[in-house]
Amino acid sequence: MKIYADNAATTKMSDTAIAVMLDYMQNHYGNPSSLYMIGQEAKEKLEQARSDTAEIINAEPREILFTSGGSEADNQAILSAAAIGRKQGKKHIVSTAFEHHAVLHTLKKLESDGFEVTLLPVHENGVVDPGELKASLRDDTCLVTVMFVNNEIGTIQPISEIGEICHRHGVIFHTDAVQAVGHLPIDVKAMNIDMLSASAHKFHGPKGVGFLYARKGIRLTNLIEGGAQERGKRAGTENLPGIASMVAALKESVDNMQGVSERLTAVRDYLIKGLSEIPHCALNGDAVFRMCNNVNFSFEGIEGESLLILLDRKGISASSGSACTSGSLDPSHVLLAIGRVHEVAHGSLRLSLSDDADIEQADYIIASVKEVVEYLRSFSPVWRDLVSGKSKFIL
Ligand SMILES: *Cc1c(COP(=O)(O)O)cnc(C)c1O
Repeated sequence: MKIYADNAATTKMSDTAIAVMLDYMQNHYGNPSSLYMIGQEAKEKLEQARSDTAEIINAEPREILFTSGGSEADNQAILSAAAIGRKQGKKHIVSTAFEHHAVLHTLKKLESDGFEVTLLPVHENGVVDPGELKASLRDDTCLVTVMFVNNEIGTIQPISEIGEICHRHGVIFHTDAVQAVGHLPIDVKAMNIDMLSASAHKFHGPKGVGFLYARKGIRLTNLIEGGAQERGKRAGTENLPGIASMVAALKESVDNMQGVSERLTAVRDYLIKGLSEIPHCALNGDAVFRMCNNVNFSFEGIEGESLLILLDRKGISASSGSACTSGSLDPSHVLLAIGRVHEVAHGSLRLSLSDDADIEQADYIIASVKEVVEYLRSFSPVWRDLVSGKSKFIL
């Protein structure tokens, strides 16, 4: 059996998204800045894509800026809010310990530039406490950035509540919604979101394209200079085939959302129940406030990397941390943030299910993981010490 269970790393493009991309490459190749007909037609398509995107998240077309993906949108959102803050003498930013590196590394850069960053704890369940967020706000806080859904453990944050607190305190609220757009209903107005990042390849669109929503009135700082595209906020000829394909994928995902969510929730819970039977393991992240496609477990006494390689031989593609950090020996900062110690964090498995996942696949995954974990433990010196009582079980 072949099972792709790494959709939090990237998704397969949908047939519709591929067809639209091909059509645009073949038939709508004009430069939207050109004055002749095919250029102006491309410009119209671009603006249609913008208003379609805006409508889906209840924004206005001029509040949507197309980018090269989630990382760029995160960088631009945070650096823009920081520039606004700096002008007002506000140099304090609040975020969380388990953000994506696109956020954390941008914040690090700002720290070396004189900003002060408070990273809120996310507790054992992987959910930010709005009360703690409220208590962390200061007179000089210029930005709160909290991710909508965590990419490793799939926990969903109380975004509306956080947005409301920020607005009551006059603080800009940005959310990295890369794992949420196309998967959960989003209304930026109702949820008090000022800025939001999204990426097409996380909802069956192409890689290298995404968007930033920035509420009107928020002045954006350019990352790329050199042209008047995107209201002068991002230079470079627009990736129209990618943008049109992204919008097609987004519409499709939103249309399928309800059905996929109901079905996958059942498969997810079945997987959680089945994998929980493995001795000395634990589910990472809240069991209820989590994405319908995310299952993340730690198994004591094994190495996540070995687990992945052996599962790959059984046809299962999964992940042990985020794809960006696999290859490094540091345990996942997300798992450390929810209080897993290094040894336990190392033995972790993330399954992020495809839309067509079913109980039959879940049975195969459960049987495979059980077999591989048992096999790896059979020659693990760490496991031997645990069983003999030389060291103590944590899970
Ligand atoms: C994938 C991801 C990103 C990065 O998006 P790219 O389009 O790959 O740059 C940022 N944040 C989260 C939460 C992600 O899952």
